[in-house]
Amino acid sequence: MLFSNITVFNSDGNIMPKHFVLVEGEKIRYLGRQDPRKLPEFQETAAAEEIYDGSDKVMIPGFVNAHCHVPMTLLRGYGEGLALHDWLEKRIYPFEDLLTGEDMYWGSLLGIAEMLQSGVTSFNDMYMCIENIGRAVVESGIKANLSRSLAGGPQDKFKLMAAYRETERALEMSAASHGLLLIDAGLHAEYSSVASLTGELLDYAKERKLRMQVHLSETLKEHEECKLRHQGKTPTAYFADLGLFDVPTVAAHGVYLETGDLEILRNYDVTLCHCPTSNLKLGSGIARLRAWKEHGIRISLGTDGASSNNNLNMLEEITMASYVQKGLERDPLFLSTAELLQMASFNGALSQGRRDTGNLAAGLAADLTIVDFSAPHMQPVYNPADNLFTTAQSSDIALTMVNGKVLYRDGSWPTLDIEQIIWQARRIRDEKLELIQDNS
Ligand SMILES: [Zn+2]
Repeated sequence: MLFSNITVFNSDGNIMPKHFVLVEGEKIRYLGRQDPRKLPEFQETAAAEEIYDGSDKVMIPGFVNAHCHVPMTLLRGYGEGLALHDWLEKRIYPFEDLLTGEDMYWGSLLGIAEMLQSGVTSFNDMYMCIENIGRAVVESGIKANLSRSLAGGPQDKFKLMAAYRETERALEMSAASHGLLLIDAGLHAEYSSVASLTGELLDYAKERKLRMQVHLSETLKEHEECKLRHQGKTPTAYFADLGLFDVPTVAAHGVYLETGDLEILRNYDVTLCHCPTSNLKLGSGIARLRAWKEHGIRISLGTDGASSNNNLNMLEEITMASYVQKGLERDPLFLSTAELLQMASFNGALSQGRRDTGNLAAGLAADLTIVDFSAPHMQPVYNPADNLFTTAQSSDIALTMVNGKVLYRDGSWPTLDIEQIIWQARRIRDEKLELIQDNS
C-alpha cells in the first residue's frame, strides 16, 4: 500500500505533513516527502501498490496495550456494583471456572477485534489457556506477548503444573508464528505465590530466555500485607531479592510504589505499565507517574482486562492517563502528547522486546494506525498532534495495519468473522449464566 499526502506523527514527537509511506510486504520500505512513484529505486514497487489518499488523515505507530487479560471480554459488565473482594470471589472466579479453552478463543477474538478498532497492533497478556489465545492471535494477524499467569502454594511444583505445560506448548506455537506471537513467563502477583514457586518459575524463565509479566503493588492492601509477611519488604524489594528483575519484566499497576522501590527498579530492564482506568474503576488509587519519570523508569500504558475497565480502547486510556496525571500534579504541561504516544507505542514495544516496531521509519515493521480528522468534532485543526489525544474517538480510527497487512479498515475486519465472534460471545454468556443458576 502507498499512503500519499498523509501527516505522520511519530513516537519521537516529530510531525511530518504531506508525506508518502510505502509499505512492501511486512515492512515500511520508504517514508519521506517525495512521491516514491517518481524515485527510480521505488518506482516499480510503488506503481504496483494500492494508493491510500491521506488527506485529512494522520498516521501514527500502532498502540501497544502493555497489560491485558484478553478473554475477560467475556466477563465485561458481569457482577458490577459489588466491592472488589465480593466481585472477585462471588462473580469473576466462579465464572472463570466455567470457561473452556474454546470459550477463551472466542473471547480473545472479541477483544482483538475491539483492540484493532482502537488502533492497537500488539498487546501483552496474562491469563489461562494461552494456546487458545495464541490461536486467536495468529488467525487475526495481531502481535502479542502471551504469558500463562502462575499462582500457587508450597505444595506446588512448577514443572508439574498446567502453567508449565501450557507455556511449553505455546512456545512451539510461537516458533511457527513468524514473530507475531511471543511467549513470556507470567507470575500473577506476590500475594498469590510462595517464594519457592516464584523461584522455580524464574529458573525456567532464565533457562528458556523468557521475559516476565507480573502484577506489582496494585492495591494498598496487597502492598502493606506483603510488608507484614516479609519482614517489612515491599513487593518490589521482595521480588528483587528473589532475582525476579534479572529477567526483563513488565510490571503492571505500581500504584503504591515507594521511592525505595523506584530506586530498585531503575537498575533493571523493567517497564512499568500504567493502567489508569482499571485503577480508578476498582478504587485502587492513582499511580505517581512523575516519580516514575524522575527515576528514569520506562512507562507503558495498558487497559487491563475488560471486566475492570470496561473496554480495551487504548485511545481512551491515553486520554485518561493524560488528564488524571495533569490534575493530580496540578500541571497542564505534565505528559506531553509526544510523551503519551511514546508510552502507548514505542515503550510498549520495548516492554515486549520488539525493537522493529513502535515507530515509523523505513526498514521497520509496518505496524501503524490511521486516524481520520474529517469528523466535525475533529475540526478545525491547528496542530494535528493536539487533536489526537484530546478530541479523537476510536470511531475516528480508519485503518490498523500489522506487519503490512490491513486488519481493520472503515468498520470491517478482513481477517475476522465479526458476526460469528459476537454470536459466540452471547452464546457463552447465556450458557454460563444457566450453569451458574443450576449450581446455586
Ligand atoms: Zn491485570
